[in-house]
Amino acid sequence: MFWNKKDDKRIYLDYAASTPIREEVKKVLLESLGFFANPGTLHKEGVLAKQKLEETRAKIATAIFARQKEIIFTSGATESNNLAILGLVKNWQKNNPNKTPHIIVSKIEHPSILEVCKKLEKEGVEVTYLDVLENGLIDIKKFKNSLKENTILVSVIFASNEIGVIQPILEISKEIRHFKKYNLKNHLNIFPVLHTDASQAPMYDDINVQKIHVDMMTISSEKIYGPKGVSALFVKDGVKIDKILEGGSQEFNLRAGTENVPSILAFAKALELAVIEREIESARIREIQNYCFTLLEKNFSGKFILNGSREQRLPNNVNITFPNFDSELLVIELDAKGIAVSEKSACNTEDEESYVIENLRKENTGSIRISFGKDTTKSQIDFLIKSLKEILEKYKNFHTK
Ligand code: PMP
Repeated sequence: MFWNKKDDKRIYLDYAASTPIREEVKKVLLESLGFFANPGTLHKEGVLAKQKLEETRAKIATAIFARQKEIIFTSGATESNNLAILGLVKNWQKNNPNKTPHIIVSKIEHPSILEVCKKLEKEGVEVTYLDVLENGLIDIKKFKNSLKENTILVSVIFASNEIGVIQPILEISKEIRHFKKYNLKNHLNIFPVLHTDASQAPMYDDINVQKIHVDMMTISSEKIYGPKGVSALFVKDGVKIDKILEGGSQEFNLRAGTENVPSILAFAKALELAVIEREIESARIREIQNYCFTLLEKNFSGKFILNGSREQRLPNNVNITFPNFDSELLVIELDAKGIAVSEKSACNTEDEESYVIENLRKENTGSIRISFGKDTTKSQIDFLIKSLKEILEKYKNFHTK
């Protein structure tokens, strides 16, 4: 079905899975279709496309306080994450053929990080999968103790796509710098490199790479009202990675394939607007989140569990469990009432249960993710709560799990 925000019969509360393209971005996308020429060519049309591409690279770099040459465009956050992990490991192995590298990741990373790590583990790379606490945050002490002499990479998600928990990236980067200085006796050492997947963050958090001290960062267009199929990987000058796709020498010879100029231009517009509106939109959405929490507590006190920290969390995420209620059924019932929410992450439709929730507590009793965005209003939350009440009432004498 084609989603139309004027269709007031539907309430879309799944912005963490995907955002619609906003009007200003759509305009740029349509206007940019004129930059169809291949930026690698020598004729006027190609040179113009290349010029636009480089101007846009500079714009994106400025938005995150990076340099133009530190931005690599890819086809999406999945590819950026793969490039960050595989690219770094491949390059390191080339220069250290007889050594074993060690990687640290949290257990609640996106599959585009975890699956790459599992593959590398089979090839002999050492991987530490860090536990998270019951509130979804990584344990900094455990993290500190897992750093080793052969640790080349740490990758921790900036904000969880599923439970919205914001990880202490700054603390992690401080620990890495401390480790370099006191254990490796060289604070200028490149390794361990810190990567963060910030796909969910730009709308609500400052992702200034100089402030958070990350060496690589994934950002994505589709979660900030931009087009799908475009992302950027920030790679700090001095961090060496290998390409993972064989082909042409585009993107500083780090990502083969003709650049998607129109989508990249639209992505830059989406990021520019996200940065401008971040503070005001975060405050507005935080108020809606608080309103939702208050109504949940008022109507379902003691009957639901909030998954993940209430404070250290994106303002647009509410992830809850009704312990004896099947979450898939809840999503379907809500959908029938005109409300779109998700049960776990859209990227894990094959799994029985969410591995993210499984890592928060022993008993995984399912969960639903409600995520807000630009068109979310308090009256939509009123309708959500009313609908939840009706559904729970309807099934009160049945076992749904
Ligand atoms: N990382 C995070 C945190 C995400 O939320 C997503 C999208 N669900 C991805 C990576 C992958 O993005 P894509 O499917 O666009 O490659």
